[in-house]
Amino acid sequence: MSGKTSLFGIFGYPVSHSRSPAMHNAAFAALGMDCRYDAYEIAPGEIAAAVEKARSLPLAGINITVPHKQAIMAELDFLSPEAELAGAVNTVKNKDGRLSGYNTDIEGALAAIHEGVGFRPEGGTAFVVGAGGAARAVVLGLCMNKAERILISNRTVEKADALAREFTDKFPDTAIECSGLGVAETEQFVTEADIVINCSSAGMEGCGPLLLPLENFRGTGVYDLVYRPRITPLVARARELGIKAESGAGMLLHQGAKSFEIWTGTPAPVGAMKKALEER
Ligand code: NAP
Repeated sequence: MSGKTSLFGIFGYPVSHSRSPAMHNAAFAALGMDCRYDAYEIAPGEIAAAVEKARSLPLAGINITVPHKQAIMAELDFLSPEAELAGAVNTVKNKDGRLSGYNTDIEGALAAIHEGVGFRPEGGTAFVVGAGGAARAVVLGLCMNKAERILISNRTVEKADALAREFTDKFPDTAIECSGLGVAETEQFVTEADIVINCSSAGMEGCGPLLLPLENFRGTGVYDLVYRPRITPLVARARELGIKAESGAGMLLHQGAKSFEIWTGTPAPVGAMKKALEER
């Protein structure tokens, strides 16, 4: 590091498990840029103070992760229209103390889903499991890209219902339905879908598996946003049935690549970033 090194980082809590430092430092190294990316553990309730400090530091770009993606919005000077619609920010650019917020999860998810299982939203029917922050980004991306129908199932059905209502109001051309996670409900949605996207935490290490009746699925593929473990129980089951399926490492890569491009104005070295993620 020199006095001229530009600093980047991720704010989260906990954050020590994050793969973003490895991915972004590999990108800077690949392009010979004098930049460094670190993880900053910011406790809940301390995000406003951390943002104030960031304004005056040479911290040119910040990724925001759980639990700060919503709370940081009130601290920023500008929000992209997508971040405003998603109600969440995962990327901040610091230009001379003026902080702008973006959401690259939306584009990152769609790019990974297309690359992983070949699905494009326009005119399609997507079955989304989950109704938290990641589901909001995915549902928004599907609506913005003219999906015809979105079927949302969530463990807490009231949250799925609230998400469906909000996006039906904003995107009346997309038909949005919702249900709980019961077998009969998910069986019907699976049968009608062109793609199944798990946006819930089910299947993550330490969480129970997501069990979906995939036997009658006739669509393009299954995409699981969960990336720890690398092969989730849902992906394993889909592949057993001969269904094309991928887990969420691709989304991590593509949202990171979009953040890199917002910060630097330079095309991201996606190959080097992917290699760094795979090595982790
Ligand atoms: P979140 O806002 O906390 O939402 C969690 C969602 O998962 C809620 O819908 C919750 O249902 C559901 N859920 C939790 N445990 C469950 C279980 N055992 N069975 C069924 N549903 C369960 O979290 P998030 O930010 O949306 O993240 C969700 C997942 O996506 C996480 O695993 C995260 O790692 C992953 N993700 C991946 C990427 C990537 O780059 N690949 C990016 C963002 C997120 P209730 O409403 O009933 O609580």
